[in-house]
Amino acid sequence: MTGFEVLQVRYGERVTQKSVVLHDYASYGQPDGDLQMDYNFWVLRDASTTILLDTGYDISERDWLGEQPVISTPDALRLLDIDPAAVSMVVTSHFHYDHIGHLGLFPNAQVVAGAAEYEYWHGKWRDGKLAGEFATAEHLDAVWKAEERGRLRLVERATEVHPGVTVHPVGGHCPGELVAVVQGRSGPLILASDAAHFYEQIEHEWPFFAFTDLDEMRRALSFLNRLAAETGGTIVPGHDGRTRERFPALDGPASQVTTVLG
Ligand SMILES: [Zn+2]
Repeated sequence: MTGFEVLQVRYGERVTQKSVVLHDYASYGQPDGDLQMDYNFWVLRDASTTILLDTGYDISERDWLGEQPVISTPDALRLLDIDPAAVSMVVTSHFHYDHIGHLGLFPNAQVVAGAAEYEYWHGKWRDGKLAGEFATAEHLDAVWKAEERGRLRLVERATEVHPGVTVHPVGGHCPGELVAVVQGRSGPLILASDAAHFYEQIEHEWPFFAFTDLDEMRRALSFLNRLAAETGGTIVPGHDGRTRERFPALDGPASQVTTVLG
């Protein structure tokens, strides 16, 4: 089977607790416990194309929630022998700081985003209402620049944005949250990004604490499970440290920070 090599790159990490990040966790009557929260972006590549899902951000400049840096995005790309100028597409799962902070690194990439994500954040930016949000004017500027240069592609419905890469707008965590289904070398992968941060959320369809629409987030979690049943794909949550126990590390210089998903 041909398909993309799909890599997960861990650029940061922190430890949190179930009761902190899972919405209304006390109501489940389950014991609390630590969760290893990884901060990731994803690389899809084959002989001719390199696509990124999300970009990470510069933790050394500002840690928002006590994130610890593991590697900077530029250093990780160097270890993986990826020239940012040769990245042809960056899919943004949503516009939070930890997902689009390095969007400006990729001068030639088409930027894919949910139309609802663009509308939501453009409105907040225009009205000067970004204070207290998980997004900054500086990060969003890279989206506006991509638009000015004709490199922004907004999607309103399930769309195959490149052969073997389909994005599904789901909302919930953010209004235009996207999930990506990627044809990997050993079968389909469902890259949930922040539609599901942790495995518990997939297994029990438990919402995350941060959402713009709780009902939509619940629908997004059941959609992920439906998608897995329909496609036979494996769901990969966006921030779960245990993904590194389920998949092997990449051989070579980037082994410490890169997990091979497919
Ligand atoms: Zn995130």
